[in-house]
Amino acid sequence: MSNNSVISISDLKMKYSEEYVLKGIDLQIEPGQIIGYIGPNGAGKTTTIKVLLGMIDNFEGKVEIFGQDITNGDIEFKKKIGYVPEGGEIYETLTGQEYIEFIGKIYGLEDDVAATRGRKMAGFFSIEETLGDRISSYSKGMKQKLLIITALIHNPQIIILDEPLNGLDANSVLVFKEILSKLAAAGKTIFYSSHLMDVVEKISNRIILISEGQIIADGTFEELKTLSEKGSLEGIFNELTGFHEHEQIAKKIIETLEN
Ligand code: ATP
Repeated sequence: MSNNSVISISDLKMKYSEEYVLKGIDLQIEPGQIIGYIGPNGAGKTTTIKVLLGMIDNFEGKVEIFGQDITNGDIEFKKKIGYVPEGGEIYETLTGQEYIEFIGKIYGLEDDVAATRGRKMAGFFSIEETLGDRISSYSKGMKQKLLIITALIHNPQIIILDEPLNGLDANSVLVFKEILSKLAAAGKTIFYSSHLMDVVEKISNRIILISEGQIIADGTFEELKTLSEKGSLEGIFNELTGFHEHEQIAKKIIETLEN
């Protein structure tokens, strides 16, 4: 691993059954990087994230976080990570406040520290008034805000985000993007997986495109532009993943409806 790497992934392979879904991922990630981790459906993004979080341990290859081999039995590395899961599972019978204190405890925070930080952040996200209500009564965006608050509450060094903008209104998206750039400027590492190409293009300082379990592009947006004639990340994504049939597919779907 390079001396400075926060996350070091060497020849990562993973299969759930016969076929490998990750086929040898190599990645060195430095502090302060905002990694946009993108790829077609089924490419292996969530599988990579689950490996980094220690949720999958039957992988091949080596993964180190802050120099610690994550398979060495010590789960200390998890305290340095904050995670916003895609379509997050959340304990809906708890109130927002209870959930914040529960997650704070898991990360080893004192109750009053978690409560104070949580309430303040909830205020900035305009959900402070509802913290006493059960999460089951929250709207989609309110739940997402709570997931973001609890992912950040322990001030983690690494923030892993799987479609974090799900359900957020445009104002909250602005706040969230600003938070990410400030955290990265403070040396935190952000691992951001999303299908929203315009957001990834804007916020990432390094974009990694995976397809069928392999990295097919890795660089800044400017560097990726040199690999393709297309000017947008969406166009580059389509070209590098060999997808050119959107018009024909849309036409066939409409024809199916008309017959
Ligand atoms: P998406 O953009 O659709 O979320 P992804 O890039 O996150 O996709 P993964 O969820 O990592 O992709 O899935 C990669 C491959 O592994 C897919 O072929 C998927 O069917 C398979 N897979 C994922 N989880 C499991 C599982 N628990 N059991 C069996 N196969 C799985």
